[in-house]
Formats: sequence, C-alpha cells, structure tokens
Amino acid sequence: MPPLGLYIHVPFCSAICHYCNFNRGLFDEPLKRRYVEAVIAEIRGAPARFGWRPGETFADSIFFGGGTPSLLEAPEVAAVLSACRDAFDVAPGAEVTLEANPESATRPLLERIREAGVNRLSLGVQSFRQPELVRLGRIHDVPQAAGAVARARGAGFDNLSLDLMMWLPEQTVQQWLDSVAGAIALGPEHLSLYMLELYPNAPLREAMARANWSQAPDDDAADMYESAMALLDGAGYRQYEISNVAQPGRESRHNLKYWTDGEWIGFGPGAHSTLAGSRWKNLSATDEYVSRVSEGLALETDRRDLSAEERWQEAMITGLRLRAGISVGAMASTYGVDLDARFGVDLQRFLEAGLTEREGDRLRLTRRGMLVANDVLRVFI
Ligand code: SF4
Repeated sequence: MPPLGLYIHVPFCSAICHYCNFNRGLFDEPLKRRYVEAVIAEIRGAPARFGWRPGETFADSIFFGGGTPSLLEAPEVAAVLSACRDAFDVAPGAEVTLEANPESATRPLLERIREAGVNRLSLGVQSFRQPELVRLGRIHDVPQAAGAVARARGAGFDNLSLDLMMWLPEQTVQQWLDSVAGAIALGPEHLSLYMLELYPNAPLREAMARANWSQAPDDDAADMYESAMALLDGAGYRQYEISNVAQPGRESRHNLKYWTDGEWIGFGPGAHSTLAGSRWKNLSATDEYVSRVSEGLALETDRRDLSAEERWQEAMITGLRLRAGISVGAMASTYGVDLDARFGVDLQRFLEAGLTEREGDRLRLTRRGMLVANDVLRVFI
C-alpha cells in the first residue's frame, strides 16, 4: 500500500468571501468545539472502520484544509495531530500543512502549532492590491499578508506557500504581475496561482453586475498566466503543476498524491477520500456531521468503485496536470491502454498545435496546452 495522505477539513470561516464555493460556514464557537471532538473521534475510529490495527497504516502527509484551519486553537490542532499519530503510523518527517488566513495567523498560534508538528503553512493571500481584496470580500489587508509571512518565519516555518488569484474583476495584466512580484519578494517556498472562477450564484457575480466591473478579455487572461509563469521561472521557481510552482524540492507532497494516482483519507464534513480503487465523500453539513459521529452513524455519501476505465482516465487527467506529464509506457503496463493506438490522431493534432510535447516515453502539456487543459483532457474522457 503506498503511503497515505490524511486530509482534515475545517469548515469554519470568520467571513464568507464573495466568490467562495467551498464547504464552509461562519465561525460558531460551540459548534467548533463539538466539531473538534467529532473529527478526533472519526480519526480514532478509522483503523476499526477499515479493518487495520491502530498505528499500522503508514501516512506521510497531513493537510488541514478549509474553511480556515487557523481558526482552530493550537491545543485543538495538537489534539487532532495526536489522534492521527495514534490511529496511523505517521512518518517522523511527514509533511504537515495547515491552511491559514493572514488575519488569524497570530504569532502565538503559529509558534504553538509549529511545536505540535505543523511544518508547512499555506497562506490565503490572494492579492497584494487592497481594492482587489475588498472586491473579493477578504477581511485581511495587504500589510497583514506580509505580516503573516514575517510571523510564520519568526515562529520557525521554513516551508511556506502563498495562494494568489488572477483574472479578478477590473484587474489588468500589470496589476496581476505586481501581485506576483509582491509574493516573490516575500520569498515563499511554494506558490499556488488560481484563476477566479465565478460559480452561477456567487455574490461576486452580482456585485460585478451592480458595479459594472468586468474581467479582462480571454487573451489577457492567457497573458496573465504565461507572464506570471515567466516571472516565477526567472525568480527560481519551477512549475510542477498547472497552478503550482515551487522552489526545487518544495513541491507539496500531499497535493502530489491527488495528481499521481495516490490514496488519501479525508476527515471532517464534506471531506473526500480515495482508497483501494474507491472514492467517497463525507456528508457536508457540519451539525449533521457532528451528530452522526456522536451517534456512531455512517458519514459516507457518494461512494463509487472506480472501473478500470475510470482509473486510467483519472490517472491520465491528473497526470497531465503535472509538468512532468505521464509515462505512455506506464499507461499501457498499469492500465492496458495503448494511447497511440487509441488516440493517435488527437495526440498528433495536439502536438502540431503546440499544446503537448513528447520526450521519449513522457507525454505532457506545454504551457500553452495548460491554458486550454480542459479542451485537451476532454478527448480522453
Ligand atoms: S476564507 Fe477561503 S473557505 Fe473561507 S470563505 Fe473565504 S475563500 Fe471560502
């Protein structure tokens, strides 16, 4: 069995950002306390649930995602980590990441979670321009973002990631590049760059209509992506996935499991799991999650056993998100799929259009191909 990743979903936020479509709700102290007890119980119950002995199954990454995990108190983070270490054989050098928002990443919290074993911090910065933060409904300001990086360094974190968002309402290419330069200046080991996606009922969509804000044309969005990647190349970062760059050796070990056919168990409301060819999701509502854990009831919804066809498609689609691409030989030996025989015409078309490249056994998307990844990947589904 490959080393597992453990994901812990923390579904609370101090305010709801105008674009957010994640599983989260407003912070509620009593519910948060009950949630922490429930998630610990869910983790401690995992070995019995899967038929393993406690501490037998090897895990080498833990990821607190949200929501806003930095709203937990340090002893709560420590208690969740101890439950993980009791229930699983967590590697001594495991990557332990916690997502934090700048306004709640206080120095005492960061020091204590560092002592508890968190060794990687992912900060939701999104922009280094104040008007953009306001439009997004973020509650931190630009100085707080820089302050959070300084506090994290002071607390001993030597592995930091910053999230930035591009193609924001009214954002120009140059303004976006200023944010990227602002992030580079702080010297994080890792950066994730996401394009704003406006889901149908997002409050930001309505605010944009009211204020007559628009997103830059598609060509500018492409320019934003390519110019940012060029800037990051020049600053010593290596792009290893469509939306992620890192200094050498600082790629996210946990997130790589999602893109390399790995396995992980998710705990907490709405958390997804992939294990032994099956995929499932916990129910999403936090109060229902807490009640069901306390009553010992099942949390699982949407279980699917992936067919052989779905497994190779997943491996293909997630693998092509990586700069390293996929091994054509491994697709044949692991999944019995001869890509050239099955998709030769499309592969040749993508190659000629400069969207993919082939180097020996590796097939990968070019940077231009990454921009239109969905159109390319659709062919394989
Ligand atoms: S902090 Fe993150 S999870 Fe919370 S509302 Fe904002 S975008 Fe959503």
